[in-house]
Amino acid sequence: MAYNPYINAQAQFDKAAELMGLSQAARDLLREPMKEFHFTVPVKMDDGATKVFKAFRIKHNDARGPAKGGLRFHPHETADTVRALSMWMTWKCAVVDIPLGGGKGGVICDPRTMSLGEQERLCRGFVRQSFSQLGPNIDVPAPDVMTNGQHMLWMMDEYETLAGGRYPGVITGKPVGSGGSLGRTEATGYGVIYALQDLLKKENIDIKSTTASIQGFGNVGEYAARMYEELGGKVVCVSCYDQGDKTSYTFRKQTGCDVKELAGIKDSFGTIDKEKAKSLGYELLPGDAWLSEDADILIPAALENQITPETVQKISQNVKVICEAANGPTTPDSDPLIQERGILLLPDFLANAGGVTVSYFEQVQCNMNFFWSKEEVLEKLHHAMSGAFGSVYALAKERKLTMRDAAYIISVERVEKAVRQRGWI
Ligand code: NAD
Repeated sequence: MAYNPYINAQAQFDKAAELMGLSQAARDLLREPMKEFHFTVPVKMDDGATKVFKAFRIKHNDARGPAKGGLRFHPHETADTVRALSMWMTWKCAVVDIPLGGGKGGVICDPRTMSLGEQERLCRGFVRQSFSQLGPNIDVPAPDVMTNGQHMLWMMDEYETLAGGRYPGVITGKPVGSGGSLGRTEATGYGVIYALQDLLKKENIDIKSTTASIQGFGNVGEYAARMYEELGGKVVCVSCYDQGDKTSYTFRKQTGCDVKELAGIKDSFGTIDKEKAKSLGYELLPGDAWLSEDADILIPAALENQITPETVQKISQNVKVICEAANGPTTPDSDPLIQERGILLLPDFLANAGGVTVSYFEQVQCNMNFFWSKEEVLEKLHHAMSGAFGSVYALAKERKLTMRDAAYIISVERVEKAVRQRGWI
């Protein structure tokens, strides 16, 4: 069965709207994006040919502040994926209570097959084509799947050239020293583990006695693994996608993975070198083996729709927590199955809100032109994640809800209040 992330995001929202008794006007407004921009970006390729890329920038809701959300480069990007991700951004900013709305962008392309020059021209073309839709007070992109700090810097440079001034708040996730914030690279992954740590504490589980299996070893997966290991957890396996043979693999070591060792043999797209891994004593298993690993915690940190009713069957009986580091990794029809099995699920837009939180801190620092130490950034991040987690967990307990439904209720209430106070509904 093919899952559509937009239908999934709407199904999750509809469930929360029903639980809350949300007004019809609020439902109509909030179950779809307010503005969509679809465009093409012509790029001169190195061989002299022009290639035309399809791109999207979608704004779900900006009642609580300028739209904020990543920009993905992916060959399978679709308008519906971007719509879903823009909705989740609205809820994510609201759950950590930062004054930003939800937006998202995507370009149908495969940067793994493009030279750096071609990627730079694509980034600059993206900004030229969407200039009127972007801005520190309009819509602020950030890195996401297969985009990084260098892409953000090229985009900021193009924006500033067109705008004729310095606007470092137009984009976040920039390299440190060029308007970036210390701690931004680590923020999403670390934030995931700060929330997980709080959940384990509430459940009286010592993180040091736990094992985790992780899907994805890009920005989010790697830093989640690093922080989890730092806190004493044992990563038993890591799965990632190999561009070379277009197959995913799970890397497992009997004694547990050494996260720094694996990070040392991965490329910039989060692909672990198979030969080097084998020589370091890792077994190579099929891509979905991470799901059936006998771990306490599963951390999907790759893409959407990885946990479906079909794959739920493969999850080991020992799994106690699914910690959603990716956006939309679990389909709505899997949620009840997970609940029936008594597995606690830490929902995506709460668990991975650390990235946007530090993006917000980056904007604040850029606006002040005064930058904080890494310790200060991470301390503020930890505080924000613990605050958001605490509210969601308390509501879930109080009303006997899943943490996903509780997170939706908190976020939707905040956004509904903002649109109502503005007089939009
Ligand atoms: P990334 O491009 O840096 O890494 C993606 C990883 O997933 C890579 O290791 C890749 O090999 C792996 N992968 C892809 N397909 C796979 C498959 N079929 N099986 C196994 N592994 C696979 O991306 P990222 O920035 O780490 O983002 C990962 C997820 O987290 C996405 O859902 C993204 O939207 C979400 N997210 C990212 C951020 C951020 O700050 N980067 C913030 C919030 C949420």
